[in-house]
Amino acid sequence: MSQMTFKTKFRIGTASILLLFCAGASTVLYQYLKEVATNDIYRETEIFISTADATRTYVKDVLRPRMTELLPTGAFIPHAMSTTFVGRDIMNRLQKRFPNFKYKRAASDPMNEVNQADDFELKMLKWFDANRDKREWHGLIKKNNRSFYTRLRAIYVESECLYCHGRPEDAPMAVKDLYGTDGGYYYKIGEVVAADTVYIPVDFTFIRIKEAAWIAFLVAIISLFALVGLFHILFNRTVVSELKGLLATFRGIIGGTGPTPEKETISSGDEFSQIKGAFESVAKDLQLTHDELTSSESKYRLLFESSQDAILIFDDKTRIIDINIAGIRMFGINDRAEALSIETYYQLFWDTRDAESFNDTIRKKGFMLGTEISMVDRGGRKLTIMISATQRLDEQGGFSGIDCIFRNVTEKRRVEKYLAQTEKLASIGELASGVAHEINNPLGVIKCYAKLIAKDQNKDSTAADDIRIIQKHADQCQNVVASLLSFARVSAPQKIDADLHACIDEILHVLEHQMQKEAIELKKEYLKPLPAVTADAQMMKQVFMNLFMNARQAMPEGGTLSVRTGTRRSARQIAISIEDTGNGISDKFINRIFDPFFTTKGPGKGTGLGLSVSYGIIKQHGGEIEVESTPGRGTTFTVILPTDAPFEPEENKDDGHPVDRR
Ligand code: ADP
Repeated sequence: MSQMTFKTKFRIGTASILLLFCAGASTVLYQYLKEVATNDIYRETEIFISTADATRTYVKDVLRPRMTELLPTGAFIPHAMSTTFVGRDIMNRLQKRFPNFKYKRAASDPMNEVNQADDFELKMLKWFDANRDKREWHGLIKKNNRSFYTRLRAIYVESECLYCHGRPEDAPMAVKDLYGTDGGYYYKIGEVVAADTVYIPVDFTFIRIKEAAWIAFLVAIISLFALVGLFHILFNRTVVSELKGLLATFRGIIGGTGPTPEKETISSGDEFSQIKGAFESVAKDLQLTHDELTSSESKYRLLFESSQDAILIFDDKTRIIDINIAGIRMFGINDRAEALSIETYYQLFWDTRDAESFNDTIRKKGFMLGTEISMVDRGGRKLTIMISATQRLDEQGGFSGIDCIFRNVTEKRRVEKYLAQTEKLASIGELASGVAHEINNPLGVIKCYAKLIAKDQNKDSTAADDIRIIQKHADQCQNVVASLLSFARVSAPQKIDADLHACIDEILHVLEHQMQKEAIELKKEYLKPLPAVTADAQMMKQVFMNLFMNARQAMPEGGTLSVRTGTRRSARQIAISIEDTGNGISDKFINRIFDPFFTTKGPGKGTGLGLSVSYGIIKQHGGEIEVESTPGRGTTFTVILPTDAPFEPEENKDDGHPVDRR
């Protein structure tokens, strides 16, 4: 069986509803009009019934008593004294004016034959007799195939009636002469013997009402069909054409991913069932895509969060819109909310110029691969970060942000630098110690002979002066050689339990006066008690002297010299940091400052041996010297020494700072 289209279903449904509605409405209208007409007719019958009633009571109450007074005893004139006679006559006259109406004084046993009740009337008289409380009845009846509105009012026998209708021998002669003695006698008081009856034909009225209902039905059905037709056209022009467009779109979407059983179902049926099929098919695809997306999202979220490298996503306004856990940790941020509140990623770069060049490169080139840039964490620590980043584009191809991976290589680079430095300095040390030995012997000879020659000379002679110059310079040479040997760690330190705070204070005491004059403020933050260190106190003093002197010389305009002592608990080390606010060390020199004879100071001001000697001494003690410097801001040297002293348990944690203080 061919499938009924939506349109056909809709049309049949609409037509049925309209037909039912109009039929119902017309029936209601028909019933209403009938009711109204019946009420009108009832009011009209009232005129007849009331007239008959009024005539009867007038004859009974006024005319007959008066006539009885005037006439000799026993005289009776039916034309003026009989209620039935007078009533019939008046009603006949009235009926002539209203030919449609029929009045009858229907009696079960009348004197006059014309008043004889028919079957219907007899039945009603019996009904009245049986139901004495009922005085009236009205309703529609069928008589000779015609419909009549009928109203009956019962007439009860009263004592006055018996004057004529009692026994025939008591009845007036005039009555007997007129009607005979066959019927109309032996009435009993209270019984129902007759009824004023009015018949009004209603066929014509009801046909008119029926016609009106039909006309209303036809007018309503035609108007409603016309209205529905107009709506239908409008619907076709608007909704259906839109639906067709929607269907075409769905077909386009589904067509793109190849046919499936669901997709074939949408090619049959009307627009709505096609759309329904298309919706179901697209919903399944959407569900599938959603599931895939959810699983892919959770996969990538896991990758994102478990990455050891920081992953940061910036928007086109340089704000952070997402950051993983490694990123939060790397930049010392408390939580994601704090990260998202950072106004711009420029705040994460050590140097704003680097941030600008990063921004420019990404926008122009679209990516950046493995570039190392100095960044800064929220605590102000400098980080060396290897950046890999790509720009993100929106659907129109416009720049919408940057996706970055930051790898923290600070420690790696520090260790690499340290190893390179160590290797370089070790080879320089070997060379230096060889050279020092070679120079030491001839120097010894020079000094010995100078001493011998000096013995033979007069102390005030010019030759004696010359020899003293030779001896002075030979001594200087020996000092340099001694420095070189100490850098090359040739002489063994005399290690004892050294009080480092006392060593530092002793040197600072020597320099204090000078520093005050140079407007250098001194700040000390000591960890007390500092775990014990076995070290050569003299050598340590030499190291601190070198570092303080360098710091002083770096602050010709004055500044602040801060000395802090602390521990690095996890590695069981002591750290002494010496920080100045001087001119700093430029990047191109920082790798060379520990080289012997490297100096940036003018002739006579620096030998270039201070840091190399200090380095040698600290190495001999199994320690390290770290340097951090920012040109224009200052430099921090940190001396790290091993210790065997036990740490208090509650301090057994490492926060990674160069110096931990209490
Ligand atoms: P010298 O002090 O005789 O030059 P050093 O070995 O002590 O030799 O220092 C080497 C170089 O390191 C110095 O010339 C200077 O350029 C640099 N330097 C050392 N300490 C500092 C400092 N605190 N601030 C700036 N530069 C420094």
